[in-house]
Amino acid sequence: METLTASGRLPHAVIIESKDQKKAGEAATLLSAYAVCQEQDKPCGVCRQCQNALNHTHADIRNVEPDKSGKTKTYKIDQIRALARDAQIRPNDADAKVYIFEEADTRFPEISQNAFLKLLEEPPQRIYFFLLCRSAKALLSTIRSRCAVVRLSGDGTIGVEAVQAAEAIAGGIVARHEYELLKALSALSDKEKQGEIIAALRLLLRDALVLLSGGDAMQNKETGRKLASKLTRAKLLAMLELCDSADDMIRQNININLLTTWLCGEFRRILWQR
Ligand SMILES: [Zn+2]
Repeated sequence: METLTASGRLPHAVIIESKDQKKAGEAATLLSAYAVCQEQDKPCGVCRQCQNALNHTHADIRNVEPDKSGKTKTYKIDQIRALARDAQIRPNDADAKVYIFEEADTRFPEISQNAFLKLLEEPPQRIYFFLLCRSAKALLSTIRSRCAVVRLSGDGTIGVEAVQAAEAIAGGIVARHEYELLKALSALSDKEKQGEIIAALRLLLRDALVLLSGGDAMQNKETGRKLASKLTRAKLLAMLELCDSADDMIRQNININLLTTWLCGEFRRILWQR
């Protein structure tokens, strides 16, 4: 969550992915408070804007209710068009407006997603959209590419920071200079994220394996391709084993400098192996 707002700017569209929809809702509430809070240190949690956001009584934060007229609760295309008009109207109280879509992965038919896409392509000023879902993959890739995707950690999913760290490590593995890998591996010094980072790295290595055998990448196609172009199947498998060893060492509380130096050496050794 912190990385999202680290630049002091909240992306105007965020997909919040979690197996636990209640957790996703709580995250959306916090981000909404961030969007409307007018204090320096957002969300301050105490100003009137924040209070209303946290109590779900803010006039400019709307939970978009799905249409219930049919058999299934869905966001109808007319609803999305009405919302697009509504988004043009100035906020009532704050200087931002927020629209929250719960269970976006099951309630958003493709036709409505396409209407919504137009809105994302030319978002009105100071409008924020938060889409809650169990799996972002259920949404159109064109929507996903215009949103920041946040995976909530702690429920078996891997946090966005860990994914970024793992991508940097993957890049370092095949980089020209060894120090790039060493630098990327330093992310492992965050004890809370170590396990998550290794798990994310494992997924990237698996992606490369799948790509090598003609399949489709799950985590990150680009990084997967990069790895697949420089590594053979045998090398990828050896690196996956290395991840297992790293997990063991983390469990045994190994000194972090030892771990990163050792991992760096091993990854590079496998890379250059004949
Ligand atoms: Zn506030």
